[in-house]
Amino acid sequence: MDVLALLRSFYAKLDIKPVVPESRGDVKVEAEKAGYFFSVKVLDDGRALVSFKESSFEFVPVTSSPEDFTAYKKELCRKLYSVFKDDTGHDLPWGMMNGVRPTKPAFIAALAGRGKSESDEYYRSEYLVTDEKADMSWEIARSELNVLSGCEHRESVCAGDRRGYAGGYSVYIGIPFCPSRCLYCSFTAYPLAAFKDGGDEYVKFLIEEMKACSGIFHGNAPDSVYMGGGTPTALNASQLDRIISTAEDVFFTGPSIEFTVEAGRADSITEDKLKVLKKHGISRISVNPQTFNQKTLDLIGRKATAAETIESFKLARELGFDNINMDIILGLPGEGIDEVKHTCEMIEELKPDSLTVHSLALKRASFLGEWIEKNGHSAFTNTDEIQALARKCAASIGLEPYYLYRQKDMSGGFENIGYALPGKECLYNVVMMEEVQSILGFGAGTISKKVVPASDTDSDKAAGDMNLGELIRSGDALHMDISRCENFKEVGDYINRLPELIDRKNELFK
Ligand code: SF4
Repeated sequence: MDVLALLRSFYAKLDIKPVVPESRGDVKVEAEKAGYFFSVKVLDDGRALVSFKESSFEFVPVTSSPEDFTAYKKELCRKLYSVFKDDTGHDLPWGMMNGVRPTKPAFIAALAGRGKSESDEYYRSEYLVTDEKADMSWEIARSELNVLSGCEHRESVCAGDRRGYAGGYSVYIGIPFCPSRCLYCSFTAYPLAAFKDGGDEYVKFLIEEMKACSGIFHGNAPDSVYMGGGTPTALNASQLDRIISTAEDVFFTGPSIEFTVEAGRADSITEDKLKVLKKHGISRISVNPQTFNQKTLDLIGRKATAAETIESFKLARELGFDNINMDIILGLPGEGIDEVKHTCEMIEELKPDSLTVHSLALKRASFLGEWIEKNGHSAFTNTDEIQALARKCAASIGLEPYYLYRQKDMSGGFENIGYALPGKECLYNVVMMEEVQSILGFGAGTISKKVVPASDTDSDKAAGDMNLGELIRSGDALHMDISRCENFKEVGDYINRLPELIDRKNELFK
């Protein structure tokens, strides 16, 4: 964790801006907000001079020097953590962890056959994570392994000799269009109305890309396909039909293979589009309210109304969709416990098969960043009580947590949790989050990952002698080599330079 991220996590309601940004090899940070002047300066001899509010102190490193930057910064952050904790009177739920995948240590521990106590101890001692989050990580890791066990039948189609999930692959199809842009959006999502052809050219090139990469896994079907965005159902029924038909022809997907389509916003969902998805046997869709409070929806610029979301959900049920996900966001501007209570009541009434509970990420790159500039942070509330309410809501309709991730600058320092009815979990979410399977990405802004399981028995043996910290630091804990290539985010670049992207992908998986 860097010094500025730590400061922002403890003082989320303050508008803290770096005066001197922190940079690699240097830990100079100054941040200012009335009464909260903060600065860290590192001297040549390794001492750090810290000014905080009206006082200042000297940090003398015990075990590390600035030359070992990572260790030095970690030690400094630990010291600052206790200073900020004393000042605010509270802990950070995830302590000093700020990565996207906080459950990875527990996953590695569970995979390596280590016990919960070793996992818990690692979370506590390495990152000062609370007991509650250490417990949650273990629970999620166990669920993930359970979901992955569904791939055990699979022969290896990737390099290496692993069976099961590690021998398979998944497909991600990106549709970078939306009916309009939400205030908090930081995804690759362009208003479809800006494209005069309604996205036809994009669909043509997307299909070309899929066909040109059909040989990569030698005609073997993937374990899962995920069509996300953006909002895939921003496209029309015929475009959706063409894309899904191509996936069937090229990757032999069919009703027996998990295939998710994010229908996302209700203002993009129509009966003819749902019928196309049904015709192709799409196994899982999402209809995402984010909140059922109309006032908030208006504020965040999400044009789909609460009533439209309810209508779309019911229509999808009538058409026979039996695995529908809903996303909600906690910490939206102007929402407190009463608003979240209302959203939870609606969820309990509709009973989706899975629920993803997000904590709003206060991303400066979104329109929300401008909104915060004007209105400050005081409109955002995300507390333990609100989190507990969402957990209770999920449990009341039989949903259990099965994957978790974090983003930068999450309100309240919390996380996003995917809940599902047992047996309705999304395999794609798990393989993507734990990076245990290759992913072929198609479309603008997508990332392809080649995950090669090594079959190195020596490292298996060595791993047996390591404690969990050493095992994780060895970088070899999962015995996976990961390499990636990215497609351009801009639709124009994607279309104009597609041959280059196809070559890159074929080269990556050669
Ligand atoms: S629906 Fe999702 S992807 Fe589209 S603009 Fe809103 S947040 Fe972004």
